[in-house]
Amino acid sequence: MPARTLVCVPVMVEDIDAALADAALAKLKQADLVEWRIDPYFDGSGGDAEDGHRVAQLQRLLAESPLPCILTCRSADEGGHFDGDDADRVSLLEKLTAGSDHPPAYLDFELAAYQRSANIRQKINLCVAHPKQQRGVTTRLILSMHDFQGMPSDLHRRLLAAYEEPACAVVKVACRARSLRDNLDLFELLEHAPKPTIALGMGEFGLMSRVLAPKFGGYLTFASLRDSCATAPGQPTIDQLLGMYHFRGIGAATKVYGVIGWPVGHSLSPQIHNAGFDALGWDGVYLPLPVAADASDPEGSDASFKATVGALAALEPLKFSGASVTIPHKERVVAFALARDWPASPAVHRCGAANTLSSAREGFTIDNTDAPAIAALLSARLDGCAGRTIGIVGAGGVARAAAADLVALGATVVIYNRTVSKAQRLADDVMRAAPAGGAKAVAAAADLLPKACCHALINCTPIGMAGGPDPAGASIPVRDLKNIGPETVFFDTVYNPIDTPMLRMARELGYPTIDGVEMFVKQAAMQFQQWTGNPAPTDLFDTLCRQRLAERSV
Ligand code: NAP
Repeated sequence: MPARTLVCVPVMVEDIDAALADAALAKLKQADLVEWRIDPYFDGSGGDAEDGHRVAQLQRLLAESPLPCILTCRSADEGGHFDGDDADRVSLLEKLTAGSDHPPAYLDFELAAYQRSANIRQKINLCVAHPKQQRGVTTRLILSMHDFQGMPSDLHRRLLAAYEEPACAVVKVACRARSLRDNLDLFELLEHAPKPTIALGMGEFGLMSRVLAPKFGGYLTFASLRDSCATAPGQPTIDQLLGMYHFRGIGAATKVYGVIGWPVGHSLSPQIHNAGFDALGWDGVYLPLPVAADASDPEGSDASFKATVGALAALEPLKFSGASVTIPHKERVVAFALARDWPASPAVHRCGAANTLSSAREGFTIDNTDAPAIAALLSARLDGCAGRTIGIVGAGGVARAAAADLVALGATVVIYNRTVSKAQRLADDVMRAAPAGGAKAVAAAADLLPKACCHALINCTPIGMAGGPDPAGASIPVRDLKNIGPETVFFDTVYNPIDTPMLRMARELGYPTIDGVEMFVKQAAMQFQQWTGNPAPTDLFDTLCRQRLAERSV
């Protein structure tokens, strides 16, 4: 077993010099190994085994390899380019291993091909180190299996067969993960592995198995040099793995956090929380945790959420310690938690939605940090919310959180929405839960916005959001508002882009503004504080968010 889980950068070999340059870069980026995927170079068409020039070039590749290497000529059956006769493939592998002055550290060969014929098995065995090997061979055999559809039903039988092969030094299994739960099966498999094992989930659900491999004693994980060079779906880049996820610091004790939502690939949360953990020296890692949902099948979505989050919470060695919960699970998580008697904060009871799970002595607590983040930002600008009138545009989840907390702080809120009945329902709900006193919530049609008379207006619709229903639209007609004072605060919850058309207009007219990044950072900072017991590095969060959003807009 290596002292630590190795990081291997796979390189598809098409041109020898380009491949060597990539491996040099991988070394610079602190990879431990390079995997030479020679199947694009040697795909089995046209008797390549006899092509002396190609063999000589591959020998050069091995001789000049800047890192210890895995040599792989992947067959088409298991996702590679080699589509020829196995005898040709094995003959080439013999020349590049036992017959080479610079043999690779590892030879990867598929278990299925290895088991197909005694002749192939015998020839491969001659290329690798094993108990009965007579010659001084150092190359170690990785027996691998791949399934691009899912977890094979006979996986355990296949694993057992691989472990029993005396020549097999390392077992590799790569299967498409169909949900986060498949990663947990792979972790269990690693925990009970009798030989060094690589167990990786492919696709967006499988990222967890790649990043958390060191936690469960995985022998190796793969990371691509660039986004465009991933050799398997869902492979992180080496910059993401070693930079954002701080892979080298992950161990058995590392606490796991993440953002539960669907989709979550675009989330900025992994960037900021991982940077925050690093700045604090907190032994934690924060991952995207995609939990699929289908609006046309709410029951199926509930069941999938329950099974997935329940399994994450139940696997003790995972040390699942908290999560941000986002669209479309913010209300689902409340029902899930209440059914388990997990305590919910007053903010969750007020708005019926939660965005934060935090581990507690028993189970988890749930909280909503969107609501206090909005309230805190507005209170700071308005010098308190009590007695203020605040216009909320939209009547969805964020509007609900804002309205509930602002009314609880003594503000009067006017909810403007294109569907007035939804605004009315929200106002009624908020009033039912509101503490006795002067504060109140009322509903209004969105076309009454020009008549608004408020101390602050908050956009809680996706208008102005990149990729949303109306990216060029101004969510609030700032120029047309005639009954407001010069100190009126304009607040946009949309953060992509940061400068929405509404905020631009408000700033041009000299009004104070609050942008969506401020809200995002504030709600994330409150989560960070709950998880770590320490204040979040909010300046770092803010800088990272603005940098990433600026990169995306280029
Ligand atoms: P939601 O539940 O889907 O509600 C969206 C609201 O916007 C609904 O009231 C809807 O009106 C209204 N709306 C949607 N499209 C519209 C259009 N074209 N014209 C007029 N009204 C429209 O969404 P949510 O979860 O509340 O999120 C709202 C926004 O908050 C998101 O777009 C997101 O950018 C932002 N957000 C920001 C943060 C942050 O940290 N900064 C966090 C979460 C969310 P109907 O009721 O008539 O359908």
